[in-house]
Amino acid sequence: MAKDSQNLMEKIVGFAKRRGFIFPGSEIYGGLANTWDYGPLGVELKNNIKQLWWKRFVQERDDMVGLDTAIIMNPKVWEASGHLKGFSDPLVECRECHQRFKADEIKGFAAWVKSVKTKAALAPDKIPACPNCNTIGSLMKPKMFNLMFKTFLGPSEDSSSTVYLRPETAQGMFVNFKNVLDTTRKTLPFGIAQIGKAFRNEITPGNFIFRTREFEQMEIEYFIPEPDPENEASWRKYFDMWQMEMMSWIRDIGIRPEKIVEHDVPEGERAHYSKKTIDFLYEFPFGQDELYGLAYRTDFDLKNQEKASGVNLKYKSANKEEAPYWPPTIEPSLGVDRTVLALLLEAYAEEKDPSTKLGASRVVLKLKPQLAPYKAAVFPLLANKPELVALAKNVYNDLRKDFMVAWDDRGNIGKRYYSQDEIGTPYCITVDFESLEKKDITVRDRDTMKQERIKISDLLPYLREKICA
Ligand SMILES: [Zn+2]
Repeated sequence: MAKDSQNLMEKIVGFAKRRGFIFPGSEIYGGLANTWDYGPLGVELKNNIKQLWWKRFVQERDDMVGLDTAIIMNPKVWEASGHLKGFSDPLVECRECHQRFKADEIKGFAAWVKSVKTKAALAPDKIPACPNCNTIGSLMKPKMFNLMFKTFLGPSEDSSSTVYLRPETAQGMFVNFKNVLDTTRKTLPFGIAQIGKAFRNEITPGNFIFRTREFEQMEIEYFIPEPDPENEASWRKYFDMWQMEMMSWIRDIGIRPEKIVEHDVPEGERAHYSKKTIDFLYEFPFGQDELYGLAYRTDFDLKNQEKASGVNLKYKSANKEEAPYWPPTIEPSLGVDRTVLALLLEAYAEEKDPSTKLGASRVVLKLKPQLAPYKAAVFPLLANKPELVALAKNVYNDLRKDFMVAWDDRGNIGKRYYSQDEIGTPYCITVDFESLEKKDITVRDRDTMKQERIKISDLLPYLREKICA
């Protein structure tokens, strides 16, 4: 990682902790292997992302319904989905230092494995070294390691009670396909959306909240009509529609499109169920990596869940001529935590404050107002003037019925502004002596730092318009 990039990551991790966005998990015990806890501001940001996503893709669309399914499912689900057999990573251990690595993270590993298999000699400088102790030739042959978390259901700890924490939310949608059809009368094409936690026992978690073993997903399974036998790629128009939807979501939440690469994942690198996958790669400080994914899962999941359960999961269209079938599925899959990370990276800025002659600099988190933890902060100009405090409290209590609003009466106004800029609060509202007479207040804009006076009675519609725009 280049020095500037590393600095930016360190800065974001430090900032996230200092201002209450994200704390190291179990910190008082020294943490736990790259687990993280969302703090008072982090939970607001995260909830705002999830609510916006839900509003856009469920509430405002006719062709979508939501679900919230269990994390622990019947293990037969994972047998049918192929996760028990196929959801594994090649794990490599070093003979010297006993560290374990994911094989594809080791430079030159694939070539080395190939040369061992084909018995072709490899130049000594091409034999991969252990990334930890640098010993050459100390890496053992890779073993497949299943990424699902195991636990036991009930009091006995044997194989008959083994269950798994779901590695994706998707299967909850597939196994409820019939329930949704029976209760909602949706006709194809339509989608099922879900937000929830998923768990993967990653060999090497890291890069802050980018790769964690417990994470949250926002997923859609979009069921489409049977492909036209004359036109193999009739699923393409739906796939393209979702690719465009995902890019417009990315833009709308405030990620610059020029930081995104849409990568068409080649065959052999795609998940076992996918016939086409687009990865939306974001330029993280540690390199380009997956932010979101879009996959064409074909009819793989419904077909296999039907075969394993014996329950009919086919779709029967109103057209009586048409035989029932498993509708193919397109899956837009979005990581919540990765969205948080990308947004912090995009929004974090250090800049000179043009409004002061001293050239003071400020940190400002330029989040979209809709996503900002607090929509506004209310200040009485002076904390020791009861009439100012009383009026400011009234304004504060009125606004918080509609928005998350911060209260601050400490120190000077300039410091309070900077403190709110740093956490992304788009509007600061100050109650001063003029307010007592004229029943108006000052609203200061986070980005332009311009101030305007607004009647208290106009404040709520004013903010509503600004924030929901
Ligand atoms: Zn080693």
